[in-house]
Amino acid sequence: MIFKNDINYRKETLVKLLNCVQNHEQEIIKALYDDFKKPAFESVATETSFILAELKYTIKNIHNWAKPKMVLPSIFNFPSTDYIYKEPYGKVLIIAPWNYPYQLALSPLIAAVAAGNQVVLKPSELTPNTSRIISKIISETFDKNHVTCIEGGVDVAQELLTQRWDYIFFTGSVPVGKIVAKAAATHLTPVTLELGGKSPCIVDESANIQLAAKRIVWGKFLNAGQTCIAPDYLMVHQNVKEKLIENLKLEITNGYGENPEISPDFARIVNEKNWNRLAAMLENETILLGGKASIEDCYIAPSLVDEPSLDSLVMQNEIFGPILPIISYKTEEDLDKIISKYEKPLSLYIFSENKSFAKRIVQNYSFGGGCINDTLIHFTNKRLPFGGVGHSGIGAYHGKFSFAIFSHRKAVVKKGNWLDLPTRYAPYNGKLETIKRLLKWFS
Ligand code: NAD
Repeated sequence: MIFKNDINYRKETLVKLLNCVQNHEQEIIKALYDDFKKPAFESVATETSFILAELKYTIKNIHNWAKPKMVLPSIFNFPSTDYIYKEPYGKVLIIAPWNYPYQLALSPLIAAVAAGNQVVLKPSELTPNTSRIISKIISETFDKNHVTCIEGGVDVAQELLTQRWDYIFFTGSVPVGKIVAKAAATHLTPVTLELGGKSPCIVDESANIQLAAKRIVWGKFLNAGQTCIAPDYLMVHQNVKEKLIENLKLEITNGYGENPEISPDFARIVNEKNWNRLAAMLENETILLGGKASIEDCYIAPSLVDEPSLDSLVMQNEIFGPILPIISYKTEEDLDKIISKYEKPLSLYIFSENKSFAKRIVQNYSFGGGCINDTLIHFTNKRLPFGGVGHSGIGAYHGKFSFAIFSHRKAVVKKGNWLDLPTRYAPYNGKLETIKRLLKWFS
């Protein structure tokens, strides 16, 4: 039996959630600041306003998305009317990360509820203040049997993964994504995996360098680089490298001042473990700007690293912090050697005025999504599916795609009884030629 398969009920709870998150907006912003000094501007722009928009859009469209869709019938079934029903999977587990701890927990939750599922959400233990307010919002809005928030760390996530779920939605790192996929396989549970990886950013010699620098600095240093779709490393045509570096330095200083450590607009690294990982990436590298790292405050300066080796720490793994390696290239073969060294990325960015170059890159490489002449903004259009491919993830969400991933599409044919052609029934004697002719006509 499907739990509360009533669209009005789902809509009412989403309206209740909308009111609740609006009432708690200041607490959410404060929690994000307490967790890693996330600036209020960034919290509103990338967390709370995103969730408000997603909620309003879902509330507006839920009836349309949920109703059975009639499709053209097959002539072979004549007379029939054919439908796709959107069926909730049932019990859904959502495991969320810490980097956009509010948005990445609530966004899949809204869709899972809209699609009619029961939900258990486990937010990240690394942002405890935000997890606490999420838990409070959920307990104020939902019946416990409908949606529950379970706070806790790896042990809690592991325990949850031993149970049987009808769907698992996971956002986090590639290694943990594999653990989730293995656990899901035990019960053949379908999954969405929103993972990470090294997202390249290419600056061609035809690019508008000044604008490219501004948009790269914004996309890279927002949230102190702790963004799954941030440009991970930069590949710049050798003829424009110096000009780009000059502009990158200028934009960093314009945005965060001579000393970003005292800028109110620059977040901190989430914890010491991640700080240590990032500080190690800066060792033995040629630093063009930044490079300062102080553990007391988990601060790492916006840093530009010149021509690291592909075997260096900074080029081996996803950076996930405010460090931008810059590698020059001469030919498209050079580009190919670097991009092809890594797994399919979550994002790819191209800065170029050369349309055929940009088109070739988009068509020749597999990646989750991306932009030409900007960074990150593909994430913000709810009409675009957001997700990875290969090691950067399985499945895509946002807007109507979110509703779709949390719904099983059930195909139902309603056959008319006023006509019953005898051709398909045994005995088949003498019917072979007729069926061959019919199949030829109608296929
Ligand atoms: P993480 O994989 O360490 O943790 C994510 C969640 O999994 C947390 O709730 C954590 O408690 C749980 N978890 C951790 N270890 C576990 C284990 N062994 N077994 C079961 N559960 C476990 O990721 P993170 O550090 O929170 O986030 C950073 C990573 O997430 C980066 O790789 C980033 O690219 C990726 N990310 C991807 C997206 C996306 O939309 N594709 C968004 C944000 C972050």
